[in-house]
Amino acid sequence: MFRSAQHDSNRVLRQPNRSLTRDRQSSALIGAHMSIRGGVSMAIERARSIRCTAMQVFVKNNMQWFARPLTGEEIRAFLNHVQRGELLSVFGHANYLINLAATNPQFHANSIRALAEELVRADQLELPFLVLHPGAHLGAGEEAGLKKITDSVDEVFRQIPKVKTKIALEITAGQGSCIGHRFEHLAHIIANVREPERLCVCLDTAHLFAAGYDIGNESGAKKTFREFDRVIGRNRLVAIHVNDSKTARGSRVDRHEHIGKGRIGLDAFRFIMRTPRFSKIPKVLETPKGEDLREDVVNLRKLRALANERV
Ligand code: FE
Ligand code: FE
Ligand code: ZN
Repeated sequence: MFRSAQHDSNRVLRQPNRSLTRDRQSSALIGAHMSIRGGVSMAIERARSIRCTAMQVFVKNNMQWFARPLTGEEIRAFLNHVQRGELLSVFGHANYLINLAATNPQFHANSIRALAEELVRADQLELPFLVLHPGAHLGAGEEAGLKKITDSVDEVFRQIPKVKTKIALEITAGQGSCIGHRFEHLAHIIANVREPERLCVCLDTAHLFAAGYDIGNESGAKKTFREFDRVIGRNRLVAIHVNDSKTARGSRVDRHEHIGKGRIGLDAFRFIMRTPRFSKIPKVLETPKGEDLREDVVNLRKLRALANERV
């Protein structure tokens, strides 16, 4: 049986404190991607300064292939941070440079090494999973790309047998030669790797919509999630990126927009915020913002309002 992505429920789903359990509004598992500028533990403070209960982070500078290892001090500062327990779900997102389907041998070798190193860092930070875009085939074709991704996932996991952090394959918008814009692509990877128990899935509303999934109304959203359950399996879902889309449904162009300001409309977000099956699934924003996180505050307020709306 496929176990939930958490390492150990005590470690990840910590006891919420009383101020978080007061009502449904503040106990919703929602938050945003947070910058690690100044060190990984700084992300915790940023997230809690706007009352996030869930957070996504990069595990190193997102613009570089490699980084010096995390020091014991950095790891302890993150794990033992006084506010760490106020975040009920924290997980990672892999570097955007990584492409497991890369056709250039050096680029591909870098991708394997970088992903293995990031999974080690994520494991040191006790993150249950690291979100990864499957890859872009760069003209080699979908089938060749899927095979390369599957082999690469096997190679990465072979190098780090003890790492508990899973890879969460993210649905993509299907821009350019990006693979992963159909549930079938993710299902194919999961079905063909040697250790499928180390894989799970992250959905992104902007990507689903740009890829052509009809999530813009409640019946379309229901249908999309039924299809997810049939093709991938509902237990694989570990996180949802809640982003509106600047681009039209089926455009295959990935441009995130603030909640309610894009083409998806509020129905999809209302459905995600209110459906009981998603109550334990962390929902994080990846929308544009400045250092003061003001835009996140507005988006989170909208999401919480959708969760609490009386119908
Ligand atoms: Fe992503
Ligand atoms: Fe995303
Ligand atoms: Zn995106």
